[in-house]
Amino acid sequence: MFYQETIAAIATSSKNGSISVIRVSGETSIESVNKIFVNKKGESIHLEKRESHTIHYGFIRDEKNEWVDEVLVLIMRAPRSYTAEDVVEIHCHGGYFICQLILDLLVRQGVRVAEPGEFTKRAFLNGRIDLSQAESVMDVIQSKSRLALGNSMSQLRGRVKEEIIHLREIILNDLAFLEAALDDPEHISLEDFPERAREHALQLKERVDHLIANSQNGRLVKEGIRTVIVGKPNVGKSSFLNCLLREDRAIVTDIAGTTRDTLEEEMTIGSVLLRLIDTAGIRDTEDAIEKIGIEKAMKSVESADFVICILDGSRELTEEDRIVLERVREYPGVVLLNKCDLELKISEEEIPFADCKKIFPFSAANGTGLEKLEQYLLEIFYQEKISYNDEIYITNMRQKQELVNTAESLNQLIGSIDGGMPEDLYSIDLYNAYEALGKIIGETVEDDIADKIFKDFCMGK
Ligand code: GDP
Repeated sequence: MFYQETIAAIATSSKNGSISVIRVSGETSIESVNKIFVNKKGESIHLEKRESHTIHYGFIRDEKNEWVDEVLVLIMRAPRSYTAEDVVEIHCHGGYFICQLILDLLVRQGVRVAEPGEFTKRAFLNGRIDLSQAESVMDVIQSKSRLALGNSMSQLRGRVKEEIIHLREIILNDLAFLEAALDDPEHISLEDFPERAREHALQLKERVDHLIANSQNGRLVKEGIRTVIVGKPNVGKSSFLNCLLREDRAIVTDIAGTTRDTLEEEMTIGSVLLRLIDTAGIRDTEDAIEKIGIEKAMKSVESADFVICILDGSRELTEEDRIVLERVREYPGVVLLNKCDLELKISEEEIPFADCKKIFPFSAANGTGLEKLEQYLLEIFYQEKISYNDEIYITNMRQKQELVNTAESLNQLIGSIDGGMPEDLYSIDLYNAYEALGKIIGETVEDDIADKIFKDFCMGK
């Protein structure tokens, strides 16, 4: 154990809820809570004598022996706890004031208020989790879709760690062999080594490159697919948004031009998170293109991952529709033939550039087509549902950068081998690749970097 000091923090959200949890961790955690905790007869129940993973009902009292709150106290002894230290959780009534009062009482027992992320940092420093798992904790908390949660959970369970350990082992074997051979050239021959090391480096690089490429998907999983909705007025853009939201956040109306502002909303289709940008709004112009809001839309389209082009399927195709379709032709996306609950007046063959985009009959009024759209998004962005396949999607920029550094070192190694450089040079590149991978799981991470990582955590985690 690295830390002796006992720390405490309110682990639940600061908004008033029905209960709140105060987490206490460290050597004196049980003893400290025991001093402020009594049963309904006002007597101490000697928490220090109680078994691990037990729950106790009672009251928190202050120095004047006045009862502050009715609580449940959970004891989790080291190492079977979140931090791998002795942990006590006090479940009190929700409410910022009560929590602060209890926290103050603990501080008076010599407990220090925890810094953001300090509990998770202790779990890391005590060796219960590696750095990639620690970083996934906040991703789990902040995940906004089933897919993002599935991915963060798989990282929390150590999928990234396992993969990185495996890659490092391959490097370490070569490194160890090389060092041994350089030390003892009489007995260990390096004759086949360059070829073998090159083969390994290529395999490793393929895997690392794949992880880097997947991190693009990781961003989409974590932050959502930046999606722009385009279409002339009245085709049902706002209704589409509302259909996803299941609430009237965007203004829906039959009068063209009432959706004034660009809206950006996060919402899910099934397990897929979309960051939707509604570009409707510009009507006060005589310019035909601006009239349908397409110029404004195009600015968003350029930075979008996906474009949803909506047509009113219950009316004939118009010149305005053609302009919209042409402008988004080159961008990945779909065409929705909206209002398919009414008689469709547009056939798929009529749609210009139909070969560039998938076309779905859709109804924002009753949700027809939503499931197919989700299926399509899963197919093109994630191949399959992430939670059910073996892929690893690195979502963390720091981890991605270390993968890039690893790939660079491997490239240098391959270059040195191809250039017929002396073998003793290889160890530098091998070592650099080994170290960069180690930083992902926190094996070789410097203290200041660890501090920076945990600072971004919320209080009580
Ligand atoms: P926007 O200008 O593209 O945002 O279009 P709106 O969402 O404001 O919709 C225009 C009109 O079409 C409204 O009267 C909606 O109720 C109607 N509408 C939208 N989607 C559908 C649909 O799927 N079916 C039917 N029947 N009407 C729809």
